[in-house]
Amino acid sequence: MHDLPDSIPALWSAQAHMPSVLGRQLVIDRGEGNYVFTADGRRLFDGTAGLWHANIGHGRPEMAEVAAAQIRRLETYHVFGRYVNDRALELAEKVASVAPIDDARIILNSGGSDSIDVALKLARRYWQLRGRPERTAILSRDLAYHGLHAYGTSVAGLDFNREGYGTDSLVPDTVRFDTYDIERVRETVERVGPHRIAAIIAEPIQGTGGVIPPTPGYLEGLQAIADEHDILLILDEVITGFGRTGEWFAAQRYGLRPHIVAMAKGISSGYSAVGGIIVAPELWRPFYEADAPIYRHGTTYSGHATAAALALENLAIIEREGLLGRVRELEAVLETELAGLAGDDRVAQVRHAGLLGGIELRPEVSAEQVTDRMVEQGWIARPLRGNVIQLSPPFTTTDAELRELVAAVPTAMDALR
Ligand code: PLP
Repeated sequence: MHDLPDSIPALWSAQAHMPSVLGRQLVIDRGEGNYVFTADGRRLFDGTAGLWHANIGHGRPEMAEVAAAQIRRLETYHVFGRYVNDRALELAEKVASVAPIDDARIILNSGGSDSIDVALKLARRYWQLRGRPERTAILSRDLAYHGLHAYGTSVAGLDFNREGYGTDSLVPDTVRFDTYDIERVRETVERVGPHRIAAIIAEPIQGTGGVIPPTPGYLEGLQAIADEHDILLILDEVITGFGRTGEWFAAQRYGLRPHIVAMAKGISSGYSAVGGIIVAPELWRPFYEADAPIYRHGTTYSGHATAAALALENLAIIEREGLLGRVRELEAVLETELAGLAGDDRVAQVRHAGLLGGIELRPEVSAEQVTDRMVEQGWIARPLRGNVIQLSPPFTTTDAELRELVAAVPTAMDALR
């Protein structure tokens, strides 16, 4: 064991390599609009919207007022048994009204990883109830990220998140398949046996895997395979949900008909910890019949009233300020700016969909070093697997800010020469 510094914070940032970050952590203590401020007074443009979540920008006074008013009236009451609270009811109605599934029902919880666990558990539970207990396998894509609870860790296609547990999967019956080629997906389905498969889960646009939009026809191909074999299609819209592609959901952009949609992040833009699933009638109805069992998935904070009030206000802001349309405008700016960067000989590929951009650098240039340099120059960007730089700013970004954000990438690369 080597010596540790005399004083180290009690907070273990378990998604950080602690020896590398100790002594150089960026403590964010204030946010305003598209900017955050460090405790030592530096102003940083939030070019990733945090972890793709701060869609309406930071520090909105109207959100502070909603939180204060709700807590004065009722901080929360749980939604177990006969109890429910008015805010959870309202939020579910609102989500159902914009959902890519008709006549949907909504289960609420506390975040994206939660929503994946409840979605995958529900898929298996549904087939048990339908008298098809052999349908237990979950198929997921190579390079997929579905959060870090046990189920999400197991189905993810990012091996580094699954290392060190002494087993390839924390839950049985997870199968990963090729990311791009729909024929290979068909082969996997045949190999596993369609009658054994409960669900296919996919991010419409892969985020953490390196901002990978679907190739033309790919998602439609997944839908066709699901339809053909009676397999449930689960879309993980934790990043794409609530506007990041210029529609409420990417399912609407790509014309998909999922059975379950997992959501989080953009439902509250980070003002409260909310996630959940949107469920199609064929899955929820069996649990609503007179002789139905209880689904038995709930946590203390499922449908938390203050969290729900903040999510409702966030969705109202998105509507009031026309932010879906604004994302479509910003997508066009992003496309143009990234195209300009594609000719740079240090750039291997640029990718985008909606207000999600990925700049893949050639191996000679390190995305980690470039983003470190960018933050010194006032721009937050994030290195992703595959030597990719993530750009996904808030929906409230101006055209000029977006142009400057993209331009900050070659500027930082120049400074590293
Ligand atoms: N699914 C996707 C596609 C994500 O990108 C994330 C988080 O980045 C999650 C699930 C997990 O969400 P959370 O971090 O809120 O648990």
